[in-house]
Amino acid sequence: MSQPATTRTQDDTRSELLIQVCRKCGTVLAPLVATCSRCLSSQLEDIASTGAGEIVSSRVVHREVDGRNGELVPFTIAIVALDDGPWVYSWVVGSVSRCTSEPMRVRYVPGVTAERLPVFRVCSAHCGVRTRSVAA
Ligand SMILES: [Zn+2]
Repeated sequence: MSQPATTRTQDDTRSELLIQVCRKCGTVLAPLVATCSRCLSSQLEDIASTGAGEIVSSRVVHREVDGRNGELVPFTIAIVALDDGPWVYSWVVGSVSRCTSEPMRVRYVPGVTAERLPVFRVCSAHCGVRTRSVAA
């Protein structure tokens, strides 16, 4: 049983972020990779990610978008470490501030991709994720 070596693409209408698991060694892998990084097997299976993770690194880039007459619009591209394990390149919407040394939590935005990258949204409560609000 051999599978054709095709470029894997993500279905834009999916409500969940798909990642992959190696059928041979069980390594959890990022979407769109063709072979397992540990055992080089190409027997990969799609599984649903929790869609939650945190930003490892981010950078603002300026891109042209349709309907803006060549105006450059800032976008944040980031490496997101999924709670499931793999790291994925993604676009991030929302304010990616550097006001805190706390990890910035993000959540997958279903049904949206941009240039084949998944889109994440900054969790609005990220500043208070690790601090409990205690009534005095
Ligand atoms: Zn493997």
